[in-house]
Amino acid sequence: MESLTRKVIIVGGGFGGVRTALDLKKKSHPDLEVLLVSDKPYLEYHPSLYRVVSGEPYSRVRLPLEQIFSGTRVKVIEERINQLDLENKTITGVSGSRYEYDFLVLALGSQTTFFEIPGLSQLSFPLKTISDALRLNTHLRELFRTRRESIEEDVEDIEEEEDVQRIHSKHIVIIGGGETGTELAGQLAVYTKDLAKMNEIDPSQITIDLIDSGTRVLKRLPENISRKVHRRLRLLDVNIFLNRRVVREEIRNIYLKDMTLKTLTVVWAAGVQPNDLYARTKGLSLDERKRVLVDEFLQPGGLQDIFVIGDGGSTPYSGTAQNAISQGRYVADIIFRSISGKTLFPFVHKEPAHAIPVGPKWAAVKIGRLRLYGRLGWWLRELATFRFFISMLPPGKAWAFMIKRQRDFSLPPRDRGT
Ligand SMILES: Cc1cc2nc3c(=O)[nH]c(=O)nc-3n(C[C@H](O)[C@H](O)[C@H](O)COP(=O)(O)OP(=O)(O)OC[C@H]3O[C@@H](n4cnc5c(N)ncnc54)[C@H](O)[C@@H]3O)c2cc1C
Repeated sequence: MESLTRKVIIVGGGFGGVRTALDLKKKSHPDLEVLLVSDKPYLEYHPSLYRVVSGEPYSRVRLPLEQIFSGTRVKVIEERINQLDLENKTITGVSGSRYEYDFLVLALGSQTTFFEIPGLSQLSFPLKTISDALRLNTHLRELFRTRRESIEEDVEDIEEEEDVQRIHSKHIVIIGGGETGTELAGQLAVYTKDLAKMNEIDPSQITIDLIDSGTRVLKRLPENISRKVHRRLRLLDVNIFLNRRVVREEIRNIYLKDMTLKTLTVVWAAGVQPNDLYARTKGLSLDERKRVLVDEFLQPGGLQDIFVIGDGGSTPYSGTAQNAISQGRYVADIIFRSISGKTLFPFVHKEPAHAIPVGPKWAAVKIGRLRLYGRLGWWLRELATFRFFISMLPPGKAWAFMIKRQRDFSLPPRDRGT
């Protein structure tokens, strides 16, 4: 007798992929087998990466897939997929293992791009993964430690060149005035002062510059939000340079179109593009931003058993976790409906809410027409974070995550473990 089992393979254990698997599990269809393949054994909670840069333990933004799926029938395999054969309905991992599917959900997310600007990929610090955040944190702590060590060694003759370098070393340049760049600038404005205090450095040596090629920060959001966030950043002593495009980076110098800045720390928060596996796959058509063109069911044209969700799909709100999550929910439902012979409905695009934290206990929030700023905005964002954790983890674990987050945030940097 022919087997009725349908195998769903989800590639990518991030926001979209995990949500799809969890919702498929909830439907508990007896003929459904769900396999999640991801190159990392955890989900990275990107919205709080900026807090890892300022010393929050990375365990607070890393949700182990094992915990998320414990006690469920979702099978999780840690493997990097490097080939998608859509014609023969198989995918292949770097280990050489091949997997066959009936339904394939691609939720591969995005990756940093440096737009081929010379020097950037070698010298700058991107902020896309937990490893990026930890690398930047280590770099900053080392920069600020230098001064203290030299005091301890009682070095009296400081060469002029060394002195200049010390000043440059407290100069942080963040490229990209979008959400990632602005929240990081606000956070670093406070964190670097903490580091200076700990290392007995005069905080007036610190300079934080936020550079953007557009006419305002947060240019994808309404102007009144940009204005408020701009003012908030200025209050935190962040310098903002607009209409400036980066052309080149060298050691100690970053070259903008009409300006050069001396620095040892350039953070690149201005470019991501969809995972390059999409572009390497035969049978997928891409838009000008290299996102996969999908129809109203989030399927690439003519491919009935494949879905592309999250950052990789060419849809109006791609690039947000909320979009990836709602698409994951939708695709789980569509797969369930397909195998149950029920009617299929197109995906409804919903504008996501925005909550941008800028420095301690302050956030700008936009939910539809509603705007909120300050402490209330901050608490709303924390609430959204809790909602996310509780939707992914057992209640006790989600609660423990949140308690630890609040505690970490009120500790000075030296007391934050990993
Ligand atoms: C610093 C930062 C802050 C952000 N803040 C917010 C915010 O506040 N609010 C918001 O809504 N959005 C935010 N975003 C955007 C949000 O994180 C993304 O839109 C979201 O992660 C997209 O979900 P996804 O499922 O498409 O991809 P991801 O969540 O990135 O998941 C992709 C998964 O695929 C895995 N993978 C990649 N390649 C392979 C492969 N070849 N084989 C197997 N597995 C693979 C990855 O390891 C990852 O687990 C932020 C992003 C960043 C970088």
